[in-house]
Amino acid sequence: MQCYAPTRPERKSPVVSQSYPATQIMVQPGSLFNQRCLFSDWQKGKSKLGLRDLEGALTARDKVGVQDLVLLDAHKSEGAVLDNLKTRFSVDLIYTYIGTLLISVNPYKELDIYSKKHMDLYMGVNFYELPPHIYALADNAYQTMLTEANNHFILISGESGAGKTETTKKILQYYAVSCPSSALLDTVRDRMLMSNPVLEAFGNAKTLKNDNSSRFGKYMDIQFDSQGDAVGGHILSYLLEKSRVVHQNHGERNFHIFYQLVEGADEDLLRQLGLERDTEYYNYLAQGECTSMKTINDKNDWQTVKNALTVIHFDDSDIEHLFGIIASVLHLGNIYFDRDFKGFAVLNSSPELRWVSKLLGIHVQVLTKALSYRKIEAKAEEVLCPFTVDHAIYARDALAKAIYGRTFTWVVNHINESLENQDPARKTVIGLLDIYGFEVFYVNSNDTGLFEQFCINYCNEKLQQLFIQLTLKAEQEEYEAEGIEDEECMRPGDSTDLTFLEKLEEKMGHHPHFVTHRLANKKTRKTLERGDFRLLHYAGEVTYCVVGFIDKNNDLLYRHIKEVMQQSKNSIVQQCFLPDEGDGRRRPETVATQFRSSLQELTEILMAKEAWYVRCLKSNDNKNSGKFDDALVKHQVKYLGLMEHLRVRRAGFAYRRRYEDFLKRTKIFIRYARTLFATEDAYEICKHELVAKIQAKYKGYRARGEFIKQKEAATKIETCWR
Ligand code: ATP
Ligand code: MG
Repeated sequence: MQCYAPTRPERKSPVVSQSYPATQIMVQPGSLFNQRCLFSDWQKGKSKLGLRDLEGALTARDKVGVQDLVLLDAHKSEGAVLDNLKTRFSVDLIYTYIGTLLISVNPYKELDIYSKKHMDLYMGVNFYELPPHIYALADNAYQTMLTEANNHFILISGESGAGKTETTKKILQYYAVSCPSSALLDTVRDRMLMSNPVLEAFGNAKTLKNDNSSRFGKYMDIQFDSQGDAVGGHILSYLLEKSRVVHQNHGERNFHIFYQLVEGADEDLLRQLGLERDTEYYNYLAQGECTSMKTINDKNDWQTVKNALTVIHFDDSDIEHLFGIIASVLHLGNIYFDRDFKGFAVLNSSPELRWVSKLLGIHVQVLTKALSYRKIEAKAEEVLCPFTVDHAIYARDALAKAIYGRTFTWVVNHINESLENQDPARKTVIGLLDIYGFEVFYVNSNDTGLFEQFCINYCNEKLQQLFIQLTLKAEQEEYEAEGIEDEECMRPGDSTDLTFLEKLEEKMGHHPHFVTHRLANKKTRKTLERGDFRLLHYAGEVTYCVVGFIDKNNDLLYRHIKEVMQQSKNSIVQQCFLPDEGDGRRRPETVATQFRSSLQELTEILMAKEAWYVRCLKSNDNKNSGKFDDALVKHQVKYLGLMEHLRVRRAGFAYRRRYEDFLKRTKIFIRYARTLFATEDAYEICKHELVAKIQAKYKGYRARGEFIKQKEAATKIETCWR
């Protein structure tokens, strides 16, 4: 390992550089094993391979591209970067580095590169010694965590369908298999792995972009003890897209768990829950007109989820109540309201109503009243005011969303309890961040996600900002200058959707990345409806329709319905609707405000850790295996800032450590600057040691009067001091 002074001697900037081993360019098509054997055998001189073979390997580079874009001759050219990714993709090499950042291009097909053999191959091996792989990154983060005893996180980003969740699962599997083992820890590990199918069942759904799209954000800490054993975990979830429970766009589905239950449950369970084995029968499942699809086997997934729930330690009563809730939501969706002669809603007893009452453990009359009347407090009295049919439907849907959303949080909390670290010893963590990807919805399409898309895209915007802040500081300033901060407009107050839009126009009207129908020029106006606003995000333009923004942001559930839920005999519902939710007088935080502060907390959690990045790219928009859509990939390379990242990595050092961390590891090798330890200024110690080392190295030249060498030493020392 060689030591260099940093080019820009900021205190916290990297101090150490590591040169790339020759393997970087020694790639040839074929399995990973072949690639490794070729080089290491040749290097050790054991192999009979001669120079010609080496040349062959180098020529092969043309066929498979370079493994690290930093090594690309034409690194400044976007075309060369794309060609390189495409060349590699064509031979199923989906991973490429930019320094320690890993690019992954979604192959949309199973590749034989995730076996136990592959895991073993990457375990404990130097990052650049083997072809790029998600295991190499996972292993490096793990090894660094162990040697430096600090916390890390892996930020996995990319647009919807790019492969973030698959990547997260691969990392988790790698840790589960490769970390040291014991019977107790096996339990923790199994639970960690099994948390995935459960969370995906409750939090993922088919969308137009992705058949298994995450509809919530997930940050998972894997906790390790000082031996490197995985001893526990903790999950933070972010803003589940609850509106999907009651409405799905054409070609989309509700959350997987509903279909799994209806398709997979045995006859007995279906009877107990009062369900038909017919997904089309349920309003909350059939709106998207695609209840089943080839890529998902709900029946099999149901078995996996049921098994996973047991592993994660949900007991029989929890499971019974959980399924009861899922079924009650389906029944709620099939409750209809008649209209009386005054136009008010009438709710007659129906089998669905009785099933909801039974499954939630709430008296049927209480439930009927709650769904047909609103309680109004007038002076000291409470008056019951009948709902109109529209209001009754609104209240029913709000209840379904609230029950499901709160149950999801309950599931996450329950998983966290089962993953709790029982070992009080010192622990370090690796956090995995898998957030719903950026979503573009096209102008004039009915398939807009509206408020939800706005939140998802805002979240991605924030994470991109964090990435830039952590990796490309210079670009950050540019970003800020563009005024991407749009949080100010998220407080709609008492306005309606349209007055909210007016407020937006007032505050943001001047902004070049914001336009509405009223503000647009003639040409753009044609593409915007009256209630629309368009934002230019880092990843592209998105048009949002403001209708429903206020409502979804307020996310109101009538207080009297909350009170009724508190009487539930279903133990999960009881825990989800606790009586101390406030007296209703204080205005609750809006969804956007809560989301904004939870993202702020997330940023703080991440900033306190060392970062690793995986940038997932979508190879095409049709989920076709083997198809590489040049324009689509080019767009992603651009907006993900990969060219800038490449430029910065070329200019800087590949291996970067804080002075403090570097010193912690190399303290015993410090010879000259030991006296400075008392000052505890890591930067000063490193600098003095480096200068003293250079002086020692060039001492002989001075004695012999070799001026050129002396000058070389002087330049190096000057660089250190600068
Ligand atoms: P979203 O933001 O919508 O949640 P995502 O980025 O999490 O999207 P994934 O669900 O991980 O996307 O991937 C979408 C699909 O792409 C997967 O269901 C799988 O079919 C395919 N895929 C992703 N990564 C890989 C991979 N490494 N190997 C094979 N197929 C993959
Ligand atoms: Mg996902």
